[in-house]
Amino acid sequence: MHEPDPSGVKTSAVILGAGVSGLSAALILLKRGYTVALLERGAVGGESSWAGGGILSPLLPWAYGEAVAALALRSMAGYADWVADIERHSGRDAEFWRCGMLALDVAAPDPALAWCAAHGMAAQRGYPQSVSLPAGLSARAPIWLPGVAQVRNPRLVAALRAAVVRHGGTIHEHCPATGVLAQGGRVTAVLTATGTLPADQVVLASGAWSGTGLAGLAAVPNIRPVRGQMLLFKLAPGVLETILYCDGLYLIPRRDGHVLAGSTLEDAGFDKSTDGATRLRLHADAAALLPALATIQPVQHWAGLRPGSPDNIPVIDRHPDFDNVFVNTGHYRYGVTMAPASAELLADLMEGRTPSLDPAPYRWQAALERGWHDA
Ligand SMILES: Cc1cc2nc3c(=O)[nH]c(=O)nc-3n(C[C@H](O)[C@H](O)[C@H](O)COP(=O)(O)OP(=O)(O)OC[C@H]3O[C@@H](n4cnc5c(N)ncnc54)[C@H](O)[C@@H]3O)c2cc1C
Repeated sequence: MHEPDPSGVKTSAVILGAGVSGLSAALILLKRGYTVALLERGAVGGESSWAGGGILSPLLPWAYGEAVAALALRSMAGYADWVADIERHSGRDAEFWRCGMLALDVAAPDPALAWCAAHGMAAQRGYPQSVSLPAGLSARAPIWLPGVAQVRNPRLVAALRAAVVRHGGTIHEHCPATGVLAQGGRVTAVLTATGTLPADQVVLASGAWSGTGLAGLAAVPNIRPVRGQMLLFKLAPGVLETILYCDGLYLIPRRDGHVLAGSTLEDAGFDKSTDGATRLRLHADAAALLPALATIQPVQHWAGLRPGSPDNIPVIDRHPDFDNVFVNTGHYRYGVTMAPASAELLADLMEGRTPSLDPAPYRWQAALERGWHDA
């Protein structure tokens, strides 16, 4: 258990990676009395946490296993309060919006609704008239999930960053960790190109890169980059006011009229390039759902690298080689959704507290045993 040190010297944690996973970990550790330094290879939140969509739910929540549901639902239940606290401390708006999600062409609606009922998730067949949507959707086996919310993820990351700094955290941007120094089963310091940072505890939260390892620190098993391409459109505010999901494609409205359309799941290594054929396909699919998109061109097209993991299950555990190294990574498609509960689980494990969630599915060993289905 992490007790305040009577000498007044706080336990220091060095966190590798300043995406949503690293920043959320930093925030909870700062609140629990640690001193925290974050090392970020590039710009804070510049990778997957920027590139994502910010939907705060698995896309078809009933389509995943209990390990995903447990972390996602715990996060979702507390998200509004979590964001409000970050906004209060940062003075920044993360644009949390409980806009609901409409899933279309749901193949087996009865089991889906039963899953929602069993997991305390509000859901109904069809959707209320008060939800303004393009014509014709009511005939497409819709399930309406009114409790689903979103954040504008780049703004969440900016707010998290400011909150971390406000709580006394230090952020070293453009400063990749290159390796670790160890003694007697413990890491004593993290190495960077410009120096050495001593650490009582180390947290690996380096997203898709956590699958590659550092000098002296073994890679997290079965993590690999999974590229996702996204399009951004600009409509007048109010044209779309809920998330639409159909057959792998989603549309996410922002309050200012921007609409995101995504995404692809591509095995392209660390290549973040985009391509014209995907742009055309995503645009056509998006316009088929929302005809207002047919006559306008996307204002932006980008790709991000998800920290892919088998079955979407992250690894939140102690590193097997060192007593004082922990990992919080591999959240694949739902790292923004799972951020608060993942950080809580991580901090509880670091302090030897009994976690609120069963930690077993997120163990390093469980990740080793899972493996990719196609591997
Ligand atoms: C197209 C797309 C759509 C998505 N949509 C959603 C969604 O709607 N909802 C949802 O919940 N999730 C979504 N996601 C997934 C979500 O974005 C990720 O799961 C989440 O951002 C992972 O956060 P992270 O902090 O673990 O990784 P990242 O954001 O990638 O952060 C890891 C950081 O570690 C840094 N790093 C790497 N190596 C080192 C090193 N050696 N030293 C220091 N720093 C290092 C990287 O530069 C990076 O900034 C989406 C992702 C994509 C790509």
